Amino acid sequence: MPDVSEAGLPVADLLDLDRRHVWHPYGPMPGRQEPLVVESAAGVRLRIAGESGAGGELVDGMSSWWSAIHGYNHPVLNEAVRDQLGRMSHVMFGGLTHEPAVGLAKRLVDMSPEGLEHVFLADSGSVSVEVAVKMCLQHWRSLGRPEKRRLLTWRGGYHGDTWQPMSVCDPEGGMHELWSGSLPVQVFADAPPTEYDQAYADHLHDLIGQHAHELAAVIVEPVVQGAGGMRFHSPAYLRVLREACDAHGVLLVFDEIATGFGRTGALFAAEHAGVTPDVMCVGKALTGGYMTMAATLCTARVADGISRGEVPVLAHGPTFMGNPLAAAVACASIDLLLGQDWVTEVKRIEAGLRESLAAASELPGVRDVRVLGAIGVVQLDHEIDMAAATRAAVREGVWLRPFRDLVYTMPPYITGDEDLARIGRAVCAAAREG
Ligand code: PMP
Repeated sequence: MPDVSEAGLPVADLLDLDRRHVWHPYGPMPGRQEPLVVESAAGVRLRIAGESGAGGELVDGMSSWWSAIHGYNHPVLNEAVRDQLGRMSHVMFGGLTHEPAVGLAKRLVDMSPEGLEHVFLADSGSVSVEVAVKMCLQHWRSLGRPEKRRLLTWRGGYHGDTWQPMSVCDPEGGMHELWSGSLPVQVFADAPPTEYDQAYADHLHDLIGQHAHELAAVIVEPVVQGAGGMRFHSPAYLRVLREACDAHGVLLVFDEIATGFGRTGALFAAEHAGVTPDVMCVGKALTGGYMTMAATLCTARVADGISRGEVPVLAHGPTFMGNPLAAAVACASIDLLLGQDWVTEVKRIEAGLRESLAAASELPGVRDVRVLGAIGVVQLDHEIDMAAATRAAVREGVWLRPFRDLVYTMPPYITGDEDLARIGRAVCAAAREG
């Protein structure tokens, strides 16, 4: 057994210990797929330890799952963490408050769709969705309507891995199928078509009406359904949801955890439709990918309902709520984003991905190629061989994480044109060989 107290453990030993002791996301124990060992990361590049197979550097085509929008090791974000570290790394948030958390809440309220006023600082995206669901159920309970406790969502969605979020993930062939039977039973509408379809919109409206008596909220990922299938749809459906929810007395929750902070070309995807939800979840890019933090925003109406209830508290308070390090770097990341012409940068990435992924549509087995903002997707007509597809991308010098029938990329906004072309070549290689 290697001595883990030694600095600079040999890569083979590190991988051996990893295999024996460490769970990875959606991983079996012990691990079937050998992970790459990352030594460091800077800009858009991950430095991979030589012995782990790839050698050298990989351009990150994933932004560490949508989050590292400014790239890695950013001097401004590093400084924000260092500066905060000198003051305090963490204090409890019950009965105490501090500038990083208050500053972050103010920034979020200012930049979010008009009307969202109250911010719960959660410690992960899944928890922010749990909190959103609690807010909605409690709102109706306070108004004397406790029977309004189900959720309606689209098939093909993904909202996280804890209990309530799992219940609104795609129920068929989705990642949480194993738990159907144990999870709360929700109401599912078909995934929205890409283009606007009046018949589908009418169906959605009717379904919300039919179930309104038992619905606390409709919860969806606006414009892009991410981990459930990387599908894009017309923003006009968000207006249909808003109208139907208003007409039938149902709250509307947008899960902007993946789409928030500019990824789709708007600061939040809701803006494509000019719609304000009653509750909005953000996470991932909130801290520029530096730390684990997410947030649930709600309107005054939702918050007031909760405070006037028979139990007038939102009973949620994680230990690391409002963590000052995460809040400080989130403030710095938001300032960095808003302080630059991010719209032009995201448009540049969109154009670069359109160009570099065009070749994929000629490949055999490719069903669809789609690009929106800084998101590029190649969909195949078969389940991909994940290991082969990942290897093909790594050979091109790019880190991708293909899954199911999808090879996709959401690069950091600072990715240069040459690296975008490289990502395009890697996506094509993964689609060809996966
Ligand atoms: N909602 C969406 C839309 C997501 O993409 C994710 C993460 N993939 C989550 C919720 C859950 O966030 P977390 O992984 O931070 O718990």
